[in-house]
Amino acid sequence: MKPDQPAFAPPSDADARRAKPAVICYPTDALAPPDHQAMQGRRASATHRATCVILPRDARCTTVPAGGFFRITCPDGAQVGDLNLWSATDLTEHFYSGKTRALHGTHLSTGDRLWSRFPNMRPMATITEDTLDWYGWDADGGSVHDVIGTRCDPYTGRLLSGSDYHYCCHSNLTRALADHTGMSLAEAESYVHDVLNVFMCTGFTNDTHQYFMKASPVRKGDYLEFFAEIDLIVGLSACPGGDCGDEHTSDKAACYPLVIDVFESTEPFTSPAPNAYDRSHGR
Ligand SMILES: [Zn+2]
Repeated sequence: MKPDQPAFAPPSDADARRAKPAVICYPTDALAPPDHQAMQGRRASATHRATCVILPRDARCTTVPAGGFFRITCPDGAQVGDLNLWSATDLTEHFYSGKTRALHGTHLSTGDRLWSRFPNMRPMATITEDTLDWYGWDADGGSVHDVIGTRCDPYTGRLLSGSDYHYCCHSNLTRALADHTGMSLAEAESYVHDVLNVFMCTGFTNDTHQYFMKASPVRKGDYLEFFAEIDLIVGLSACPGGDCGDEHTSDKAACYPLVIDVFESTEPFTSPAPNAYDRSHGR
C-alpha cells in the first residue's frame, strides 16, 4: 500500500507545475475516419453465415472473413464478455488493447478501431454499432466496453485469494483457442491477450484511482457490432462475473450466454496494409 502522506514536501511552485496544460498523447486527426456509409452499404447486402453460442463461464472461437461483420449480442440476462482477436493467418498478430486505449481512450464505441500489435499495427476491426452508446459517462466516471481491464485470470486469483479457479476468461479463452486450432493448452495460452471488455461497466475510482466495475447496464437484446478489417479468429468468453456487479473469479455470480453472429459480404474488399515502419530501429 502507498503511504497516506507524501514523504517529500512540495516545491514552492507546485501549483504552477500541476497547472500545465494536458496534451493528448496520440491525436488521431491524421487518421482517415471510418467510411460509415460504405460499411452500411456492405452490411445491407451481407448475409448471415453463422451463429456461435457462448455458454456461461466458457468461451468459443469463430472465424470472420475480411469485409464481413460480427455482432455480439446479450440474448438473456446481463452478461459481460471478454473479447480476443487474432489474424486468421498469423496468430502472432493479435489485438493490442493498450495501443487501442492510447489512441481511442479507455472505453470504445461506434467508429473506434481495434488495432493489432507491433509490427503490423493495423485496424483488425471497426465498431459499427453499439446499442449501449446512450450510457456515456456515469457519476462514478464509469462507462462501458473498456480496454483498461486485462481479463480475469487464475494467476491473479491465486495471488490474491490463495485458491485456484479454472473458469476465468483467460482460461476460457485458452481452452477455446486450443479447441479451435488443435494446439495444446500451453501453446494456446501464449496467444491469449488483453481484451476488449464487451458490455462491462468500469472506470477508475476518484480517490485511489483503482480499477472498478459495476453492474453492466446491458439489457436483453443489446449488441455491439464490428466490421472485420482482416480475416479474423474471434474469441469470446462469457465472464464468470456475470454482469460484474459483485465479484468474478468464482461461481457466485449469475451468468448467462452470449451470442456471436457472423455476416459475410461478397463485395470485394482490400484489408489495410501492415504498418509501413521499416523496422530498422536506428541501425
Ligand atoms: Zn472475466
